[in-house]
Amino acid sequence: MISFVLASNNKKKIAELETLFTTGATESIKVVSLKDIGYTDEIIEDGDSFEENALIKAVTPAKLGYIGIADDSGLAVDYLNGAPGIYSARYSGEGATDEGNRKKLLKELDGVPEEKRSAKFVCVAAFVLPENSGLTIKEEWRISDTLSKKSGIPAERAMVVRGECQGTILFEERGTGGFGYDSLFHYSEFDQTFAEIPGDKKNSVSHRGRAMREFTGRVNEIIKTNGDN
Ligand code: IMP
Repeated sequence: MISFVLASNNKKKIAELETLFTTGATESIKVVSLKDIGYTDEIIEDGDSFEENALIKAVTPAKLGYIGIADDSGLAVDYLNGAPGIYSARYSGEGATDEGNRKKLLKELDGVPEEKRSAKFVCVAAFVLPENSGLTIKEEWRISDTLSKKSGIPAERAMVVRGECQGTILFEERGTGGFGYDSLFHYSEFDQTFAEIPGDKKNSVSHRGRAMREFTGRVNEIIKTNGDN
């Protein structure tokens, strides 16, 4: 049995990741939360990129001797030079809500024609090993030297995986499912917004689905390779 600590207290996220990790895994895997290991402090996400913020979260359990995992995601709109980006959850300011954030986005794009409303959802998953874990991350999967310097985490102990999904921001909301910016995000291949499709259809093409499939595949390999040693 191997345990991962997900730097989130979101029960849904934890359950989802446990299922994803377990699929195809040869070892039994348990995903627990920060609260489960007695960590209750707030983590300050003050990085300049999705990668840095995901690492800031995942290194927290790793510093306490656990294998840390975390994700960070958001929406990047080309016309707004990548905004709201890492500020997606708090775009409309103090006490931001999903609805307030969508309103602000529509306001910022007021009068901008369809061909200039391209955007992408981004999700970065991070994996950080504690010191002396005995596990090895393949060289080509390790974080870059730049990211290692910025985050202060040795490259041989950390990995990040990015998933992206391209779309267009509509002029008004469509659909009632999903969360966040889903009802404004039009995915052309389906000619639907992410709020108009079921969760499994969204997962098949979404930034999070893409990142997590790659991430869990790699993590399973890291654990398996270790077992073979
Ligand atoms: P977090 O990674 O859970 O912190 O998400 C950051 C923010 O990005 C969310 O609050 C949403 O506003 C936005 N976001 C991230 N992923 C999605 C998505 O799949 N659909 C809609 N909004 C998203």
